[in-house]
Amino acid sequence: MVSRVIPVDTFDLVIFGATGDLARRKIFPGLYRRFWAGQVPPDSRIIGAARSAMALAEFRAQVLASIEEFVSPDKRDAARIDEFLGRIAYVQIDATGSGGWAQLKAEMRPGMIGAFYFSVAPSLFGDLAERLHRHGIATAESRIVVEKPFGRDLASARALNATLAAHFAERQIYRIDHYLGKETVQNLMAVRFANILFEPLWNAQHIDHVQITVAETVGVGGRGSYYDKSGAMRDMVQNHMMQLLCLIAMEPPYHFDPNAVRDEKLKVIRALDPVGQDQIVRGQYTSASGQPDYLTDAGNPESLTESYIALKVGISNWRWKGTPFYLRTGKKLRARTSEIAITFREPPHSIFDDAPGWRENVLAIRLQPNEGMNLMVMIKEPGPGGMRLVQVPLDMSFAKALGAEGADIPDAYERLIMDVIRGNQTLFMRGDEVEAAWAWTDPIIAGWEAAGRRPKPYDPGTSGPEDALMLLHRDGRRWREIKE
Ligand code: NAP
Repeated sequence: MVSRVIPVDTFDLVIFGATGDLARRKIFPGLYRRFWAGQVPPDSRIIGAARSAMALAEFRAQVLASIEEFVSPDKRDAARIDEFLGRIAYVQIDATGSGGWAQLKAEMRPGMIGAFYFSVAPSLFGDLAERLHRHGIATAESRIVVEKPFGRDLASARALNATLAAHFAERQIYRIDHYLGKETVQNLMAVRFANILFEPLWNAQHIDHVQITVAETVGVGGRGSYYDKSGAMRDMVQNHMMQLLCLIAMEPPYHFDPNAVRDEKLKVIRALDPVGQDQIVRGQYTSASGQPDYLTDAGNPESLTESYIALKVGISNWRWKGTPFYLRTGKKLRARTSEIAITFREPPHSIFDDAPGWRENVLAIRLQPNEGMNLMVMIKEPGPGGMRLVQVPLDMSFAKALGAEGADIPDAYERLIMDVIRGNQTLFMRGDEVEAAWAWTDPIIAGWEAAGRRPKPYDPGTSGPEDALMLLHRDGRRWREIKE
């Protein structure tokens, strides 16, 4: 089954930071793939803007190189690429200066959907927002897209929200979290709210615990000095993992509508329990096989920043009281995998007293690799010799189930950019959500900063520090294996 392409209206999309890494790896290849899929209307234009002085031909050559590097060969056709490049303009602009704005204004067509992607450092968001207004480029219908990190604590997130709010209404602001653009994440909502099967069991009476794992095999490498100011909590937990937790834990929204969904997510964040230091394990990877350790990668031998974190959090509401959520994420772990696993409780009474092999039902939702869901259920082990139980998966790999292997499933960035053009904010974070997430995060970070404890060392290629095992062991539970 080939995915259905829903047309969008003609647009002018400005990419600030068009010469940067994100634009090169994600934004331009993604836009090209949407163009290939027939989703970029013929008169639409993409205007790159950055500080570098660059002729249009040179900029288009850069975009071409990024398409060649990041788009699969079956979607590359010289004539189509030329057509795509023909829609691209370039404006040299300094976010903090006055040059280039008149040219940008001239490139924008009145009456068209106008969107501005701020793919630049957050310190420039205010300058861009203010100048878009000062030069009469933004209108009441314009949309702006802002990237993570959205603040580094509650105070800076509030300041950033206030800066944007001075020039744009909330309905115009699209705070991107690319995890929300993943097919599986949206499928989580479909599975929960389009089926009768799961929702009656989706509560503390029937769910024992939830594990959310985002494991990476890479270290912080070249971004060490940037990463060292952030750490796993700020880089992954406060945003991406928080969003995943919200989608699992939220009440059914009354409609699949931006504010209805975001209202429900906000209620979850507000119900999160504070997390004590005894419910957190932080780690730093050591060196192995001649590879540098975290401290070397970070360029900071005294660093107390974590490249790994595991924590346990409860949700104080009627649905979830008593069901812990365990979150862990880290660099240089055994495998690259992102997974949500929902472990159900035991049946209230077993009629198979002495049947060996019983294990809990688990709904495992894989975000990568191989997006899909697996529901582990018990059946009788085939053959004679009495009742023996065996756990088997009811596999719901989306690509396989839909016959869509090799079909054109857009990646997260592509989908989200098209949602901006459609004016659909459902998969974007609202300002109050981001602030609530920081309000929960800040005291946790303050707690370990006050304690001044070193993160625990862990060897690359493992599942993290030993102490993280204890976080679950002492509750009589175990982490799932980290594997691809
Ligand atoms: P980057 O590679 O450093 O690129 C920064 C871009 O901003 C360049 O195009 C640069 O233009 C432009 N720029 C810098 N100062 C400017 C100014 N005063 N006026 C106008 N343009 C200016 O950064 P990036 O990695 O693409 O990241 C962009 C944003 O996305 C950041 O907020 C980052 O945190 C976020 N983000 C990035 C990734 C990623 O994978 N890269 C992932 C998630 C979020 P010149 O080069 O021409 O000076």
